[in-house]
Amino acid sequence: MTQPTTTYTETDERIALRKAVASLARSYGPEYYFSRARSGGHTTELWDEAGRLGYLGVAVPEEYGGGGAGIGDLAAVLEEFCAAGAPLLLMMVSPAICATVIARFGTEQQKQTWLPRFATGEVRMSFGITEPEAGSNSHRLTTTARRDGDGWVLTGRKVFISGVDEADAVLIVGRTEDAKTGRLRPALFIVPTDAPGFEYRQIQMDITAADRQFGLFLDEVRLPAEALIGAQDADLAAMFAGLNPERIMSAAFSVGVARYALEKAVAYAGQRSVWGVPIGAHQGLAHPLAQIKIELELARLMMQKAAALYDAGDDHAAGEAANMAKYAAAEVAVRAVDQAIQVHGGNGLASEYGLGVLLGVVRASRIAPVSREMVLNFVAQHSLGLPKSYGSSGRPEPAPAVAATSEPAAPNIASHEHAF
Ligand SMILES: Cc1cc2nc3c(=O)[nH]c(=O)nc-3n(C[C@H](O)[C@H](O)[C@H](O)COP(=O)(O)OP(=O)(O)OC[C@H]3O[C@@H](n4cnc5c(N)ncnc54)[C@H](O)[C@@H]3O)c2cc1C
Repeated sequence: MTQPTTTYTETDERIALRKAVASLARSYGPEYYFSRARSGGHTTELWDEAGRLGYLGVAVPEEYGGGGAGIGDLAAVLEEFCAAGAPLLLMMVSPAICATVIARFGTEQQKQTWLPRFATGEVRMSFGITEPEAGSNSHRLTTTARRDGDGWVLTGRKVFISGVDEADAVLIVGRTEDAKTGRLRPALFIVPTDAPGFEYRQIQMDITAADRQFGLFLDEVRLPAEALIGAQDADLAAMFAGLNPERIMSAAFSVGVARYALEKAVAYAGQRSVWGVPIGAHQGLAHPLAQIKIELELARLMMQKAAALYDAGDDHAAGEAANMAKYAAAEVAVRAVDQAIQVHGGNGLASEYGLGVLLGVVRASRIAPVSREMVLNFVAQHSLGLPKSYGSSGRPEPAPAVAATSEPAAPNIASHEHAF
């Protein structure tokens, strides 16, 4: 018999990790999370304990004090938190995007400064790319860094940046002037949240979550030379492909929330009886739940594929899979929460049942970190080879030189296709 080249079960280590994280997350539970979310508080105790136990640092390289595992393990941690009713949004950003970018592309000094503290969860870092005018079109980013002796002066604006009030620093996507061509090119800067000239204001959102969104104002923020990630001539395509963990973690977040909602729906459908049989016996309720179960397993499998490709170093193939996983997981999370509410009848919107409160959270996953439409654009252009209706100029662009299914998706730094 031919041996399969891939196994579809997780390693014993990852299964044990999932169990341990689930046990910690359940000991806090949705009551803890949503009481903090509703009162404007944070989940500091849970974050700190998870950090101390090494769960937030599983993917940080061992030589910097981390677990030395991959993004697949970090995604498993986030999925278990969400499935237990504690959706830690900042995990998508701080240990996933920021720690990964620094581990892969940072200078030795940046690694030594930041990674040991990412390994223990002591440090939190937000990620800022979105700008009010640029939106999904990162060609239009105007946050710009100019040289100031050895250092930099950064000026610009950002919106919807998550977790800034809890963060020690923000990894900002700005632009610098290319020394050779004089053209502006993207660059990533680590900006401490207490730097003079750095201000932030909370944006009131209709989302009940413990991590909140902020508008940033960077007014001539002076930064040392080592604030710039990597060297000035760093390979930007590779660096932005390094942001793929954001998609994978976003998928893990949605898969976890979908699991949480489905579990509640199934439990309720099994015990609530209004016609002499449990309501789950009615196909009108059973079939949508069965469909969600199927779509959830498919999204999870794509997330695991994306993580496996990324951990194997195949950024191109990981890009396509990560986009698809992010899309599928967001869709199933929206459907799972909606159907769980339906199964609960009036109780679905009663605060006590903890479902209505998730509507904003799952709805946001269709918009952030990359919108559903931008994922569909990515797949249409890179997976199917269809022409592009938009470009940096705002005019239609020719089809990418990729025949359908001939080549894996290329990273694209021009839109939010590879960044928050
Ligand atoms: C809860 C939450 C947390 C967030 N956290 C962060 C964060 O930590 N850091 C960060 O940098 N950003 C963050 N964001 C911002 C988020 O990444 C953006 O909102 C998102 O990328 C969409 O950009 P936009 O809001 O400017 O929408 P726009 O770009 O204005 O788009 C509006 C609509 O038009 C559609 N659209 C735009 N262009 C096209 C096109 N070419 N084809 C088809 N449709 C198109 C979009 O899909 C969307 O539906 C967060 C947002 C939310 C809601």
